Amino acid sequence: MHKKVAIIGGGIAGLWSAWELARQGIDSTVVERSAFLGGHVAGFACKATDRCRRCGACLLEDVLQNVTKSDRISSLLRAEVFKIEKTNGGFDLTVSQKPQRIFPEKCTDCGDCEANCPVPGALVRSPLTNQLSVDEEVCLFYKDGSCRACLEACTAGAVKLDGAVQDIQLNPSAVILATGFKPFDPTNKPRFGYGRIPGVVAAPELDSMLRRDNWPGDRRMRSIAFIQCVGSRDAKIGRNYCSRVCCGYAMRLARLLKYRFPEVEPSMFYMDIQTYDRDFDRRLAEAAREVRLVRAIPSEVRLGPDGSPEVIYHGPEDHRLSESFDMVVLSVGISPHAADLFGALAGLSYNRDGFLGADGEGVTTGQEGVFVAGTTQGPRSISETVSHAISAAAAVSSYLGNSR
Ligand SMILES: Cc1cc2nc3c(=O)[nH]c(=O)nc-3n(C[C@H](O)[C@H](O)[C@H](O)COP(=O)(O)OP(=O)(O)OC[C@H]3O[C@@H](n4cnc5c(N)ncnc54)[C@H](O)[C@@H]3O)c2cc1C
Ligand code: SF4
Ligand code: SF4
Ligand code: SF4
Repeated sequence: MHKKVAIIGGGIAGLWSAWELARQGIDSTVVERSAFLGGHVAGFACKATDRCRRCGACLLEDVLQNVTKSDRISSLLRAEVFKIEKTNGGFDLTVSQKPQRIFPEKCTDCGDCEANCPVPGALVRSPLTNQLSVDEEVCLFYKDGSCRACLEACTAGAVKLDGAVQDIQLNPSAVILATGFKPFDPTNKPRFGYGRIPGVVAAPELDSMLRRDNWPGDRRMRSIAFIQCVGSRDAKIGRNYCSRVCCGYAMRLARLLKYRFPEVEPSMFYMDIQTYDRDFDRRLAEAAREVRLVRAIPSEVRLGPDGSPEVIYHGPEDHRLSESFDMVVLSVGISPHAADLFGALAGLSYNRDGFLGADGEGVTTGQEGVFVAGTTQGPRSISETVSHAISAAAAVSSYLGNSR
């Protein structure tokens, strides 16, 4: 029998697993919940300054090209698995797929739909490919049927607002779970003022501003504070692990800011700078010439008398200090996804940090034929995710070989 693999999640872990399986002659279907492939990495800006800063984000473009060209890989977008059952030879998966709303093969990218849409955020674009889709949670057509403006504006016939959800049946011999992570929600640390104090943002929001060239250009933004370990290494909220990527991420963002806007003065408040990257110590010493490093985790961010955020922290000899900034960036960590989907699979194991699978680098899940790849299993960087996905594909290949 021809063996196929179902990969749930089309982030870099899912895509790389699919590509690695394809290289070994194994077909797969990637089931992705959102309208676009790429997961979180699709939203990351290139962090190159005068040279590449090795953030890893462009690894996504490489694998996406390979996946798109491969005839061994198919993908289902806007699709979610809602039932998984074990059979004799593998699994029965029931996938529910919402219809596509904007067809890229017809879209001429004229922008008429966006120009006529009355609701900001109803039409969304992939940050990576710029393709359009409709967010049904926001669009008026799906709320109360009161708008069809994009459909009427599109002379290319690329927009289709009606069409029913379809159920699709997959019968894979093995499954890879690659549903990724959730960034820590900073409203769960109210003392840092996120959503309450103007000028306090989460790191991915700053990244998206830089990606879209949306930085305030009036030189108001000079002093920027990064606060590390927001939602990581914090036993009080049940997250006693390091997210591994935030120190490098914040450092690259700070240096990119300084490079693009030399007037910016970045400061970084940290507990310990984590050094998982091979070359990190050398790069840290280099970065310290451009970024002021303050070894203290602030106790609070509050609204200063001039309306800007004020960071309260304890300095040397435990003196209580306060400092005003134009912007405070919270380096939010990696949290496990709610295990809703996995509830359908009995016998899955979770590791000590609440991610799926065993502790360490393993790719097994406690359920025969079901493997895990990337940040579904634990915090890791893009390049670590790629290595983990390659291991997952190797384990699947050997499982399929052994179960022939
Ligand atoms: C703030 C922040 C900054 C970071 N910066 C860097 C950096 O500079 N460099 C670096 O190396 N790493 C960085 N990382 C880590 C990087 O984001 C991860 O290594 C990478 O995204 C992991 O890819 P993934 O495929 O495991 O997960 P994800 O990127 O989360 O992809 C998972 C995919 O699965 C889909 N999905 C979820 N649930 C379902 C479902 N039920 N059904 C179908 N599909 C589903 C999602 O829509 C998504 O497309 C950062 C992380 C954070 C939080
Ligand atoms: S690794 Fe990062 S910094 Fe380097 S070119 Fe790629 S995206 Fe840019
Ligand atoms: S109006 Fe139609 S062709 Fe123009 S960008 Fe929108 S979907 Fe594409
Ligand atoms: S139907 Fe209206 S609200 Fe919805 S995406 Fe189209 S223009 Fe925007």
